[in-house]
Amino acid sequence: MVLNRVSADGLGPAVLGRGGSKGPLRGPLLSSQGEALELRDVAMPEAGPAQIRLRVKACGLCRTDLHVVDGDLKEPKLPLVPGHQIVGVVDQVGADVRGLAVGDRVGVPWLGGSCGRCRYCQAGDENLCDSARYTGYQIDGGFADYCVADARFCFALPAEQDDITVAPLLCAGLIGYRALRMTGDATELGFYGFGSAAHLMTQVARHQGRRVYAFTRASDVASRGFALGLGATWAGPSDERPEVELDAAILFAPAGELLPLALKAVRKGGTVVCAGIHMSDIPSFPYALLWGERVVRSVANLTRRDGIDFLAVARTMSIVAQTTVYGLEEANRALGDLRRGDVQGSAVLRVA
Ligand SMILES: [Zn+2]
Ligand SMILES: [Zn+2]
Repeated sequence: MVLNRVSADGLGPAVLGRGGSKGPLRGPLLSSQGEALELRDVAMPEAGPAQIRLRVKACGLCRTDLHVVDGDLKEPKLPLVPGHQIVGVVDQVGADVRGLAVGDRVGVPWLGGSCGRCRYCQAGDENLCDSARYTGYQIDGGFADYCVADARFCFALPAEQDDITVAPLLCAGLIGYRALRMTGDATELGFYGFGSAAHLMTQVARHQGRRVYAFTRASDVASRGFALGLGATWAGPSDERPEVELDAAILFAPAGELLPLALKAVRKGGTVVCAGIHMSDIPSFPYALLWGERVVRSVANLTRRDGIDFLAVARTMSIVAQTTVYGLEEANRALGDLRRGDVQGSAVLRVA
């Protein structure tokens, strides 16, 4: 579905880009959860003292964007510009910003800011900060021509990756990597749900000498072929089990009914990591599935350390995101394709 350009009622007057040479700035906005985005003319944002403004080049889509748009996550700012895997070029720098200059290419992730003072922030666990604010959720994100971001939470990007292929690394990549690290030294590794994060982490896991077992919906033959093509050892429906016991599994799909299935497939002492920000209810299951010191844990958000570490890994190995590219005006179509599971790999909006 192509977005309709509508008037900027309630959003202030549309303004022209710098020098008046550009047309009105575009921002597909979420006005109400559960409804489609509307392409509106929006005002040029201005960088605050600790912020940079970016000319957005590309923005990846993530299942979390669906949770925001569909209303599974309950505390968005509204109206909201979604999008939290932003690649852009700095075009304005706040007075207090150090180390970034106009013309630098940076990435903006989901974690847009944290308090810096609480017990979690002090311990480097800023992903758990109660006052954290999130890009494309409580802060306007990258489905727009321009955005602003706290410079302290932005990342330098690997120069060898272009704008489109580097975008999915900023959430699917680095939160996927946080989940992967939580599997410790697991060699036999199950991935439940084979979307953006799993296809990137398959490449990392193979590079690290692990074996990947890809579990998908029964009808999703295409994703199983995709997984095998990326080097997965085995691919099958989620209710099947490979011949080997798994050392660990990561649930990328937001489906609680997968948890008991994953516990059945994991050996004693193994870990099941729930990587999504939202999941449907987990059905009750016999204690015997958890017995044997199996561990279930979640992954929440990201730290800046995760980003620095993962982007360093991405530089040292040839991790390549397979992307389906949409125009900014096609944001609703992209979200729809992602919702139906029709995107192989990562969906990315090309903005400029
Ligand atoms: Zn904090
Ligand atoms: Zn995300």
